[in-house]
This record gives sequence, structure tokens and C-alpha cells, in this order.
Amino acid sequence: MAANYENNPAVANFVEYLRIPSVQPDINYDDCVAFLKKQANGLGLGLKVYELVPRKPIVVITWAGKDQSLPSILLNSHMDVVPVFENSWTYPPFSGHIDKDGKIFARGSQDMKCVGIQYLEAVRKLQKAGVQLKRTLHICFVPDEEIGGHDGMEKFVHTKDFKDLNVGFALDEGMASPNEEFILFNGERSIWQIHVHCTGQPGHGSLLLPNNAGEKLRFIIDKFMDLRAEQKKILDSDPKLTIGDVTTINLTQIYGGVQSNVVPEKLTAVFDMRLAVTVSHEEFERKINQWCKEAGEGVTIEFEQRNPCVPCTKLDETNPYWIAFKAAADELKLKLDCRIFPGGTDSRYVRNVGIPALGFSPMNHTPVLLHDHDEFLDAEIFLKGIDIYVKLITSVTNV
Ligand code: ZN
Repeated sequence: MAANYENNPAVANFVEYLRIPSVQPDINYDDCVAFLKKQANGLGLGLKVYELVPRKPIVVITWAGKDQSLPSILLNSHMDVVPVFENSWTYPPFSGHIDKDGKIFARGSQDMKCVGIQYLEAVRKLQKAGVQLKRTLHICFVPDEEIGGHDGMEKFVHTKDFKDLNVGFALDEGMASPNEEFILFNGERSIWQIHVHCTGQPGHGSLLLPNNAGEKLRFIIDKFMDLRAEQKKILDSDPKLTIGDVTTINLTQIYGGVQSNVVPEKLTAVFDMRLAVTVSHEEFERKINQWCKEAGEGVTIEFEQRNPCVPCTKLDETNPYWIAFKAAADELKLKLDCRIFPGGTDSRYVRNVGIPALGFSPMNHTPVLLHDHDEFLDAEIFLKGIDIYVKLITSVTNV
């Protein structure tokens, strides 16, 4: 059985891409670019490489549509993958090993080299069928999504080159789903990471001096943890809610102090928060500032990361691309489970410049193994995904 899959050209392409160890950190993307150039040549399509930051290439393969005056469709994927703990893998993580059941094992098999190849294979099928699409298709491969996309999509969306692509709608990564449903993401929470600095009077550890940094730190931690408990209660109380629907708060670091018998002049707590799409950023910041004031004098906040509020992509009749996407999904009898993405993807940068974007990876009946050991994708699911994209791409490009 596995031998059959190895002879399948789409699977062979997928495995070849998986074997390029484009693993964080300090990736050399040369082999990815060379691979994609070969792909573009094979499809007879033009390719451009934009290098906004040295050694961080953005590759765009373009299939011109019949009406090039219309806004185009962007099919995005990232080339990088997260690190591996090789000893915990059954097969080497950059081997693309196919087992007897047709499972393709490799880092990136779900997140998200599968999707990049599926876009290309869908185009190949459409070309073979003699289809010419109405709108232009840009298949984009970006670097460094796994470390925040700062040198990739975040910068690219603000360039003239990107504006020249005239993108009207974008597809990007989603997530596997263990059951029959396909998960679709139309929004993301906003990441806020803050350091709360609590200062006070230093002194000897044997005294009970006033204006104490530790007391202020306790007050701050209590406030954040109370809010965390509140959100956990909301999530636990309604089985329809997923983690993307609530605000998550975690105390991730505490630092300060000099030695055990010295009361420090400063203690700092670091919180990682993901703000639900329903949260008003102004109100949330006001609340944190209020807590700092209540904690006592000399308590300040410093942002390490502060994502802006990015409106969700509308899933209603005001968004013609959604209508087209949904019509194709209905025709394929796909059950869609629409959610807010729990983490962050490059979609947020695309949405932030006003372009509707959906996160979708066609992987149902698949355990969620992104960033995990033994990440795999079933060859059947991978191949079915190509046919799903054939329909979806046709539908959204003909809007
Ligand atoms: Zn990803």
C-alpha cells in the first residue's frame, strides 16, 4: 500500500518538500526556494522572490486569471517548521516516512507543508482539466511564521509589492480535526504579553517595612488569577465554547530580588494573555492600569507584545468570498466547524490590512499533532484535500 503512495506524484512532491529541514531557528531557505522554483517551472507559472529582510525570502507563484483587473486570491502557507525532539520520534522527522497504513510522518506534515503542496497540486489538476480561472491566483510561501512572522508576512503586507498583488481574499492555515468536521477559522485572539513591575522600599529581610514590593506583587497576581478563574469558569460552563472564545491569562515568569535576606526594590511578574475577540482593548487596558494603581505606588506595566484589535472576517452575505467558499463546501458535503483560532497565524496581518482571510487546512479524521512528536498526515486525507481545494479555489476565484 505504502509503495502505491510513493509512486503518486502529488505524494512524492509532498515528501520531497517535507525532507527539506526548514526548521527553526536560523533557517536557510535556499532549498525551499529552489524546490518552489522547480514547482513553478513544472506548472509553467511565474515566480517572484521578495527579500524584505536578507535570507528571509517570500516566494509568490502566480497564475493569471482571465480578468486581471479583479482583486486576486491569495493562497498562503509558511515554509518554516518548529523544532523537533528527534529521540521521541518513531521515524526520523525529516524523512517523510510512509508507513504501511499510508501515514506520512514528518515535521510539517500538518503544519503546514501539506497545504502548500495541496495548493500547487490543485492548480495542476485545474490546468490539466483545461480550466482558466476568472481571478488571478497568488500562491505565497512565507518564512518565519513559527516565530511570529515579523520578517515575513507582517512586513510583506505593508509593501508596495503586496499592494500590487491586489488581494481581495486569502486562505491560510487552519488545524486538523479528529472527527468528521473540518475546522474553519475566521478570526484570532490578540496576544498581549506584559511585564508588571512592582517597586518598593528595599531593606533588611528581618523587618516589616512598609511600601513592600512583594505585597504589591501578590495583589497584582491575585487580580490576574481571579480573572483567569472567571474565564475558566465561563469556558467550563458551556460545551459549545472553545478556548478561542475566552480570554486566557497565564503567569509565565517572575523575576527580581538580589539575595534571600534583602527586601528587593523591584519584583516583576510576566503575564501571557490572549484577548478574546469580544474584549474591548481600551477597557482591558484601563482595568490593568486600575489594578496597578490599587496595588500601591510604583507599580507600572511594560508591554513585550501587544497585538492590535483585528476585526474577524465576516461569515455572512456581506462577504461574497465566504458565500462562494460555503457553496463549494456544501457541494462537497463538508461539515464546517467555525471557530476563533486559539493561537496566532499570519492571517492576522492579512486581516489587519482589511483583507478577508480564512484559516482552513483540509484535515478531518486526523489527530491534532502540530508541534508534537510523530506529526503525520494520512496520504488519503492529503489527496482528498487536493480535491477539496480544486472546488474551493474554483469557487472563490470565480466570485
Ligand atoms: Zn502553522
